[in-house]
Parts: sequence; C-alpha cells; structure tokens
Amino acid sequence: MKFAILNGEMIKRSDAKVDVEDRGYQFGDGVYEVIRVYNGKMFTINEHLERFVKSAESICITLPYTKKKITTLLEELILKNNLQEGIVYMQVTRGVAPRNHSFPTDNVLPSLVAYTKEVTRPLASLKTGVKTMVTEDIRWLRCDIKSLNLLGNLLAKQKAAESGCFEAIQHRSQEVTEGSSSNIFIIKDGSITTHPSNHLILKGITKDVILQVCESNKIVVEEQTFTLEDLASADEAFLSSTTAEVMPIIEVDGKRVGDGLPGPVTKRLQELFEQEIERQCGALKDKILK
Ligand code: PMP
Repeated sequence: MKFAILNGEMIKRSDAKVDVEDRGYQFGDGVYEVIRVYNGKMFTINEHLERFVKSAESICITLPYTKKKITTLLEELILKNNLQEGIVYMQVTRGVAPRNHSFPTDNVLPSLVAYTKEVTRPLASLKTGVKTMVTEDIRWLRCDIKSLNLLGNLLAKQKAAESGCFEAIQHRSQEVTEGSSSNIFIIKDGSITTHPSNHLILKGITKDVILQVCESNKIVVEEQTFTLEDLASADEAFLSSTTAEVMPIIEVDGKRVGDGLPGPVTKRLQELFEQEIERQCGALKDKILK
C-alpha cells in the first residue's frame, strides 16, 4: 500500500482526495515542486524547499509548515513508501473556499499534498541523446514561479510528443527561453551558454547544480540570451531538469546538432553531475558513461 501526505498527515494514497472547491483544482492557484530521490535520499532538497517557499511567497501563500517540518514529512513518506529511485511530488494551494477570483478573506488554510512515484533514470536517452523541436513561448511573464498553471507548457510538450520529440524548446521572438519542462544549454567553441534566470524562465535546480559544478571545475558558462540561429549552429546542446538530468540534444526540428551525437562537453557535465548525485545520495548502480 502507498501513502500520501495531506495537510500534514500521512494517509493511504487512495484516500488522498481534495475538495472540488480547492483553489488549486479550480484556478491552478498554487505552486509545486518535483524532487528527485536516489538511493532513498532526496537530491538538492534544500534548494527545492527554498524555491517552493519563494514560489509560494510570490503568489502570497504562506506555507503552513516550516521547511524543516516539510523535510521530515517527506523523509517519512519516502520511508513509508519504500522509495529507492523516483520522485516526490509536492504542491500547495491557497486552500478550499467558495469560488471567487479574489483571494479568500477569512483565514483559509493552504492545502499541502505530497506523494511519491517510482521513476528510473532515463539512462538510454542520457547515452544516446534526444530529439527536440522549437515552438513559440506563449506563456505568461512570471515563468520564474513554479505555478500549477502549466497550460502553455502542456501545449508545447504535446506538440513535441506529436512530432516524436522528447522536448519542445520555446522561444520569444528569436530568443530561446527554455524547454516546456527543462532549461536549455548550448555549447559553441567550448563555451557554454544558457538563458539568465529571470522572469522568463524557471530557475532550474538542475541548472544551478550545473552552474556550480562548472564553477568548481573551472568550466566557463555564460548566462546570456541566445537565438534560434545560435541553437541551430551550436556544436552541442543539452537540456536539464530534475528527472532528465543532463540530457544531450541531438536534433532540433529534424536537423542534427553538431555531428548528431552527444558531445564531449555534455558528456563531461553528465559525469560531473553524477558525481554530485553520488556525493549527496551515495553510489549509483548504473552510470551513463561506463
Ligand atoms: N523549466 C521548466 C518550465 C520546468 O518545468 C522545469 C522542471 N521543473 C525546469 C525548467 C527544470 O527545473 P528543475 O531542474 O528544477 O527540475
């Protein structure tokens, strides 16, 4: 039997139900996080909690529990569900109130939900790389908030799925912003570029780990906007996310990136990223590069 957390209590997953007037359900009025679990341990949990609090604050939701309390709850959930490799999904909404666009005036308690899912690392794709396509970024101007409102992202990802692609790379005018559920990096003549973490993209936790490992290994990365043309002429490209890690991009809109194989810089970053996972969560059974 699997368990979930609903408002601070561990209950049977099948009993975790929300009210039809939960504002998350009606308006997408809430924020969420997806945290990777390796060897039963959460990777970059503090960074995810920081972002969770920040996202919630940006839409004027005060979390009902401290970060410490949430960490303890999630650790208990992972143990209870005997999760070794997978994810924790967690969301908070503004709570249950009669439907009205403006925020409830009485003290409505935000609803916090968390559950786990077994997800293996996408090792095959991490070795071979993935195909992508480009699509216009039609989202709002606060993409830095990890909001439950994901319609723009969903429409982009669906286009990718219908084209047999792993990801849709979004752009505003000629500038590449981010993937529908990932950050995008390009490499040209050995130097790495990724969109700055501003209101147009989500500040990915994986992106930040990559920036840190680059810094400690004296690999130069620039947080600079780049264009569709830069993407098309890149030597290498990759995307990053909690579940996809450092994922090589081998094709954009049917055209090869570089020679159409994961490149040396991307592979080096995959290696450094795995080292960071092992530092935090212990030895990995399988590695990308053996
Ligand atoms: N951008 C978007 C729009 C996303 O949904 C995600 C996945 N959460 C990311 C970037 C990557 O963020 P992270 O590395 O924290 O998973």
